[in-house]
Amino acid sequence: MDEYEELLERAFQSLPKTSKSDTRFQIPEAEVTVAGSQTVVKNLRSVASALNRDPTHLAKFLLRELAAAGALKENQLVVQGKFPPGVIQERINRYVQEYVLCKECGKPDTRLEKIDRILVLRCEACGARTPVRGT
Ligand SMILES: [Zn+2]
Repeated sequence: MDEYEELLERAFQSLPKTSKSDTRFQIPEAEVTVAGSQTVVKNLRSVASALNRDPTHLAKFLLRELAAAGALKENQLVVQGKFPPGVIQERINRYVQEYVLCKECGKPDTRLEKIDRILVLRCEACGARTPVRGT
């Protein structure tokens, strides 16, 4: 029906690298390298800022989803353990579904707010407020 629903569909099917020109929102692509026993997400902060989210929040989510230890270092997230880029990207897509896209209208114009210790995703496009998992 609209392009955001399409986007949502595609994201669920683990977003391929396409350049659909009229999409206003695209899930940013992680630059991932494995160095020794560590996996480095080189552009973690850029990904977070493209999503308009706190890099610490995104980093925490990724580490929890990967069940790995790690730390933010400048622009990068250094994760203990080896993870293929696809796995990292899939977790970022999941983050976008959970913490960025509005559950009602599917638009990315949202903010995370804390109301009475409950984390809420507030949509600036349609006004919906949806509680989301805290970290
Ligand atoms: Zn909305």
